[in-house]
Order: sequence, then C-alpha cells, then structure tokens
Amino acid sequence: MNREWSEKNKEIQALLSKGATFASGIEKLIEFRGELFGQVEQIAANYPAEAFWQMPFASADGLHSKTLDYSVWHIFRIEDIVAHEMIAGDRQVFFENGFCDAVRAPIITTGNELAGEAIADFSRQLDHRQLILYAREVMQSTNRILNRLAYPDLKRKFGDDVREKLRATGCVSDDERARWLIDYWCGKDVKGLILMPFSRHWIMHIEAMCRIKNRLCKLARKGADPVAYCGLSCNHCFLGEWCGGCRTAYNACSFATCSPDGVCPNAKCCREKGIDGCWDCESLETCDVGFYVPTNDGAAAAKAHSLYIQKHGKKAFLAVQDRLHERFDFEKTQEILGQDRLEGLRILEEN
Ligand code: SF4
Ligand code: SF4
Repeated sequence: MNREWSEKNKEIQALLSKGATFASGIEKLIEFRGELFGQVEQIAANYPAEAFWQMPFASADGLHSKTLDYSVWHIFRIEDIVAHEMIAGDRQVFFENGFCDAVRAPIITTGNELAGEAIADFSRQLDHRQLILYAREVMQSTNRILNRLAYPDLKRKFGDDVREKLRATGCVSDDERARWLIDYWCGKDVKGLILMPFSRHWIMHIEAMCRIKNRLCKLARKGADPVAYCGLSCNHCFLGEWCGGCRTAYNACSFATCSPDGVCPNAKCCREKGIDGCWDCESLETCDVGFYVPTNDGAAAAKAHSLYIQKHGKKAFLAVQDRLHERFDFEKTQEILGQDRLEGLRILEEN
C-alpha cells in the first residue's frame, strides 16, 4: 500500500478512536478523501475514452485487473449504499439525483459479481462523465454525513432489519461473489464502516487505478517518438507515469491539460505547420507559445533541447539525456540546464 496514504490512514484511525480527537479525525479524513479524489479526477480528466474500459492487467490476480471506470463505480456504489442505507437511513445519491439513468449503467449493484470480459463490457456502457459527477456527489454527501456524526455514534451497530433492508434494495447481487457484502457491512459498527468503505477501500482501489493508468501510459509510449514537440524527452520525464507523450492520445502534459481542447499549444502549432518539432521552426529563438511562455521556468531548458536537436539530431539528444540522468539526480531538466537557453545548449553539448 502507498506508504504516505497508509500513514495518513493510520493517523486518522488513531484520532477517531478518542473522543477528544474525534472532530479533528473527521476533519483529516475529509481532507484525505479530497486528496484521494483529486487522483480520481486527474485520471478521469486526461485520457481518451477507451482508457476507461481497458484491462491492461486482465489476467492478474488483484484489484488492478479491473478497468478504471469499474473501479470508480465500485468504490462509490459501495459508499453510497453504506452511507445512506445504513448510516444516514435515507435515499442513495444514485436514486435521489437521477444518476440512475444518467450514468447508463446496466446494473445498480456494487459490481462485485462481475469478472473478466463482463467488467470491460460493463465499463464500455457507462457514461464516463456522469460517473465522475456521481462519484463527486457521493463523496460530498458522505462528507456531510461524517460532519454530522458525534463520537458516541461510532459504536452504533446494525441489526437484522438493516440486513433485510439492504437485501430489499437489490443493490447487492445475490451472486456468491457479492452477497457476503451485506454480512460484512452489518458485522461492523459505524466506526468500522468509516474505516473501510470510506477510506481504506478507496486507497486500495485508487492505488489499483494508478497502476492501470501507469500501464496504459507505458503501452501508449511503446513505438511512439519519445521526443516531445517542444523538445522535452518523454523517456526522461518525471510525468512519465501520468503522460503517454504528446504524440499519443494519452497526452497529459501540463500544457495539454490546461488547454481547453486538451492539446498542448506546441503540439498543435507543429502539427499545423507540418513539422516534426519546434527545432524545425524558424521562430524557435523568439517563440513564446505554450511550453516556451516566459513565465514557465522550464521554457529556456526546453528551448535549449530544441536548439541542440536542431544542430545534432534527436538520437544524439536522447543519448545526452541518458548520460545526464546517469550523472545527476534531477527531476526537471531546468535543474541542470538553468534559465538561459544558450547556457543550457552549452551544457548539453559538453555532456
Ligand atoms: S509531459 Fe511532455 S515530455 Fe513529459 S511525457 Fe508528457 S509530452 Fe512527454
Ligand atoms: S511557433 Fe513556436 S510553438 Fe510553433 S512550431 Fe515554432 S517554435 Fe514551436
């Protein structure tokens, strides 16, 4: 498990365990859930439609053998059911706010009963955008429930009436891979539910989502030119686990994600000019488009890359990058090349 997330979860558990620190435990839990949800939203925003039903680890044994959209569905259907049918005793967000139709899911259950190709088929049918809106509303609704809880509520248990009610909703499949859920939830008190469906369960599935998206980015990069249009090297980029490169559909560089059309301005400009990269452009020295905007602290270094490619070619450039990364421990190229493009070019040529 991600060590940082695991530590935060432990800290929250400890705070929730004492009346004196309960309120700050709830506050930290809500903050942590916001942080984790940020990961979901970042993944959800940046990839092409097919990314959400791909199963790059289909034959693996683990949560990463699912799809990205299945993972979101599963996390938030469980939370919605538990938060509303059990803790708050009111209607699920799924039925209350029209998501039942909008998400276009062929099931209303948690999805535990699905396996293999059925997960991919299921994911293909979902309206991805609506699914993320649904997930956000579930998170916010649960946060409101959490904020209303008092320390003595943590010990509240659930009886046969709740078991029956859960069965009657039809939100848990009767399939043997799913029906254990009702006994599992009803075996916990409110505190147990907070610690599993509302936090640890998120961590486990969001970690699996990160593995899936890392793999999809890696697969996208296979065979693609690793030199970005602006002159950066995708092979050496610290965003490599998030971005498949600007020559693929998995482009999640900061300038692409900040552009309304999701396309990096340098990539767009090069494509419009029909050139391989900014190194083939007569305006390179003076250009302030996209990554070269003067307020970007990596602009001069990226330009130094393009100037180097102009003189020595892409193969030599990638070899220099290999050598620099062998010699120095750095994330961003400007840490080595600095803020002056000609000085950056000199450093590249000396290495
Ligand atoms: S952020 Fe830029 S350099 Fe990094 S992988 Fe994406 S396109 Fe390549
Ligand atoms: S104008 Fe700027 S962004 Fe466009 S190709 Fe030339 S150097 Fe690249």
